Amino acid sequence: MPATRDYWPLVMENLKQRITPAHYKTWFSRLHFVDVDSQGRKLILSIPSTFNRNYIESKFKQPLREAVSKYYPQVVHIDFEIQKNEEIEEIKQEQDQLNLDSNPSDQPISHPSDAPLANVTSSEDKTPHYLPKKSLNNLNPRYTFDNYVIGKYNELVANVAKGVIQSPGSLYNPLFIYSSVGLGKTHLIQALGHKMLENRPNFNIKYIPAETFKQQYIAAVQKNEYAKFREYYGQIDLLLIDDIQSMAGNEGTQTVFFHIFNELHQANKQIIITSDKHPKDLYGIDERLTSRFEGGMVIDVPKPDLEDRMAIVKAKIAASDLNLSDILVHRIATVIDTNVRDIEGVLNQIQARTRLLPDREFTLLELEQILTKRSEIVTIPVSGQSSSPNTILQATARVYGIQIADLLGSKRSKDIAEARQLSMWLIKSMLDYSYPSIGKILGGRDHSTVMHGVSKIEGKVSVDEKMKEKVRLIQVAIGAV
Ligand code: ADP
Ligand code: MG
Repeated sequence: MPATRDYWPLVMENLKQRITPAHYKTWFSRLHFVDVDSQGRKLILSIPSTFNRNYIESKFKQPLREAVSKYYPQVVHIDFEIQKNEEIEEIKQEQDQLNLDSNPSDQPISHPSDAPLANVTSSEDKTPHYLPKKSLNNLNPRYTFDNYVIGKYNELVANVAKGVIQSPGSLYNPLFIYSSVGLGKTHLIQALGHKMLENRPNFNIKYIPAETFKQQYIAAVQKNEYAKFREYYGQIDLLLIDDIQSMAGNEGTQTVFFHIFNELHQANKQIIITSDKHPKDLYGIDERLTSRFEGGMVIDVPKPDLEDRMAIVKAKIAASDLNLSDILVHRIATVIDTNVRDIEGVLNQIQARTRLLPDREFTLLELEQILTKRSEIVTIPVSGQSSSPNTILQATARVYGIQIADLLGSKRSKDIAEARQLSMWLIKSMLDYSYPSIGKILGGRDHSTVMHGVSKIEGKVSVDEKMKEKVRLIQVAIGAV
């Protein structure tokens, strides 16, 4: 006669037929058989955590009972044992890995652009220095609904955001917003944060770029303050995580985020995530996370069409001291069809010029010059489906007559160093990868090295004709690889 344990795999197989594969993977893959008591009436299972148990009991009790009763018909009671701190174990493993991989002490905790993170601790606030004070939400006052243009292209996502403001934690949770760069994801979720704060002043709201979250987590682990870190995030009512793709490849960060996510989600706290890709296409992010993302509302921000872009240009002009004719507005909206950030770039250039020569009218001819210059250098084929870090490295190596291995290696000859920095700049400006991930691509370099390289090329590329020529050649080569 088979032992009672032998039926367990059959139960799991049966359960698989009753729920979705994603749910099965997320919630049951680490559920194990322990024992059945001597009368065969009580089944004991082991499970990673209390919230995992609570979740199963609240959402999957019925299918689990049905599957169990097929193979253990006498069982009337299912008991869960919490596994010995598997979460802490995972974190520990990751900690070891982190200590091998990097030297986080020299990594800044702030995000380069999106949020000013305070890292001061006042005497009454015991928050660790690497976390923003509890009272700070990190929302940038620049990003509100007042200056967020809503057109055809983003009407849907804006309405979803408004739905979340009305009913946080219930309507769309998590809310997952994705698009390519410069289409207003960061602006929108921060505007949502501001509005939520107006409606619910006591809400604990935090905006965190995923990159910053990662740095905070590293700091917490290094200081042996993992529990504090968890507690801090466990108290949040509205969590805005920006650019989740920068967690790719970081297992520990993903693990802790997974646990925080579940804790908040289960408590009906609102979670909003932005990304440059649909969850299905998020390379390097654990499937147990992406399947959770897909369990909520997933929505993209498409590109604005000409009419939308006209409205954006007009709104930006109205909010500035610029005064441009309709012809100029139309021309800008026609040529700059990539994203809102690029539109802002052109307007900034025009503004710089009109401030320098306030008495001279800004002409169409001058606009054409600005636009041509941009198309030569700045708007390199972002749309080119073929561009990837790999094609950029191949093209750069080809133009410089070197090997990809040279780019990734440690040789420091002038040419190779320049080619390396140029490839960093290209990956940044064409694909907008994060500095740490560019560092990884280029043979495991530190993010500060990448930042240095990118800014060096950035400084050269607009003034140095030879550099411009190289960029042009690489663009051509990218088309060819
Ligand atoms: P993303 O996070 O998608 O890369 P951002 O939110 O950083 O994009 O937007 C890039 C820039 O464009 C920001 O300065 C933002 O204020 C502006 N922007 C984007 N969308 C809009 C919009 N609909 N209305 C006004 N400004 C916008
Ligand atoms: Mg953004």
